[in-house]
Amino acid sequence: MKVIIADSINEKGISDLEEVAEVLVDTSITPEELVKVIKDFDAIVVRSRTKVTREVIENAPKLKIIARAGVGVDNVDVEAATEKGIMVVNAPESTSITVAEQTMGLMLSLARKISIADKSVKEGKWEKSRFMGLELNNKTLGIIGMGRIGSQVVLRSKAFGMDAIVYDPYISDEVAKDLGVEVVDLETVFKESDVITIHVPLTPETKHIVSTDAFEMMKDSTFIINCARGGIIDEEALYVALSENKIGGAALDVFENEPPEGSPLLGLDNIVVTPHIGASTAEAQVDAALIVANEIITVFKGGSARNVLNMPVLDSKTYKGLKPYINLAEKMGSFVVQAAPGNIQEMNVTYCGELADMPKKDVLTRTILQGILNPILNEPVNMINAPTIAKRRGLVITEGKRSESEGYRCIIVLHVKTDQGEFSVEGTYVDEPKIIKINNYWVDVKPEGTMFIAKYQDLPGTIGAIGTKLGEHGINIATMQVGRREAGGEAVMVLKVDQNVPEEIITEVIKLDNVEDAVSLNL
Ligand code: NAD
Repeated sequence: MKVIIADSINEKGISDLEEVAEVLVDTSITPEELVKVIKDFDAIVVRSRTKVTREVIENAPKLKIIARAGVGVDNVDVEAATEKGIMVVNAPESTSITVAEQTMGLMLSLARKISIADKSVKEGKWEKSRFMGLELNNKTLGIIGMGRIGSQVVLRSKAFGMDAIVYDPYISDEVAKDLGVEVVDLETVFKESDVITIHVPLTPETKHIVSTDAFEMMKDSTFIINCARGGIIDEEALYVALSENKIGGAALDVFENEPPEGSPLLGLDNIVVTPHIGASTAEAQVDAALIVANEIITVFKGGSARNVLNMPVLDSKTYKGLKPYINLAEKMGSFVVQAAPGNIQEMNVTYCGELADMPKKDVLTRTILQGILNPILNEPVNMINAPTIAKRRGLVITEGKRSESEGYRCIIVLHVKTDQGEFSVEGTYVDEPKIIKINNYWVDVKPEGTMFIAKYQDLPGTIGAIGTKLGEHGINIATMQVGRREAGGEAVMVLKVDQNVPEEIITEVIKLDNVEDAVSLNL
């Protein structure tokens, strides 16, 4: 395996990688050079200097993983990577404590006017009365967004004797209870907080979430801090609020435009600013390097990376619950694409029984798609790019769930519509993956090896004729299953055979009396 490290990362991460891979460190590589050399590499590590563009990705036939030793992936074309089935990983937890500490620093700087007092003393002044401060003790801290960083801020604020209230519509009551915070609405955060700190991503929902209306609601002593992303606070509204003393002060590590050249905010006394250094500590950089090195090593060894940005991330409990069905799902996908007549145009997956309420079931849908697309496409299909490729091919995918599961703990029902008809297969897991229904006929088949399926009228002599025909051509039958709803009606036969049944023999079988269709499968 070969890894290129295109931006400088901590030595410890490099030496970890060198234990399992051939590593090239070239932190001054140009975009043109990268396009040329990337074809040989299985993984690339970047920070923010190197741009992993579509052109780079399209020239990287071996690339499996793009690792950002840090958080933001603005410099990686994640869409292009997803289309090619390349994992994009980052190290989001590497900076949580670092940013939380920066937040506390800015909070103290605002409360005790540290940065402006520092400037004043350095100018030769001694303005003791100008810098009357406030204690953080017993103050209300309003936190907008309680993810990795917000939670670390909560822990630290407790040491300062603050009471935390939180606005985050996506956290569970359990998480809030564990951290001992009160979850409130956004208006309450604006109205009741003495200090407000922002720790949400920048999204259409959070853009300018703090604007004129919010400043109107705040106490005139409230401090607001943004160490998340520029654009979450409306800077024009902030300028008005600060210059008219509608709030106590602000601290920004991030800006709508970086650097914030010419911003009128920089001329105010009641604002503290830093140049987007929230994540910049030696410890965070070591962590980021170690985390991404570990992700690459895990993937090279066949394991699952934890921080994959272009695939659903499973916690260990969810993974354990879904694991038995992942293999079944791939087999079912492979089964339908080979057994269903014609080209698949629509696919519906219904998750039944305990699976119905299992989170992250889209992992199974992705796996089914992988099973369907892999045998028919030249390009490699994996869990990452399967939905994108399916969409590109116009495959309509729907998912459903139902509690009833035919007496099994869980079943997966896969129904497809093709340009020539419909086909369905149902599977479960009882010690091993099993197909339990084909086109609504009950069977009990382990989906593996070479199989031969025939649809026929259940009339005397038909099963024997099919067996004889295969025997005449030296095809040995290992096991046989038949499923029918009524005697003399339509039936399905599933044979495990020792070798592939060639197309010409399938045609001969179909010509036999009472045989409607036949197909050979390799699973
Ligand atoms: P996270 O994903 O762990 O947490 C984000 C939290 O925001 C989640 O709990 C989510 O539920 C919540 N959220 C999402 N949309 C929301 C909304 N509309 N209203 C309220 N809550 C909402 O992220 P994190 O690692 O804690 O990072 C938080 C922010 O810090 C991000 O914007 C990240 O880019 C930024 N960051 C900045 C620096 C820096 O250098 N200043 C460094 C690292 C991270």
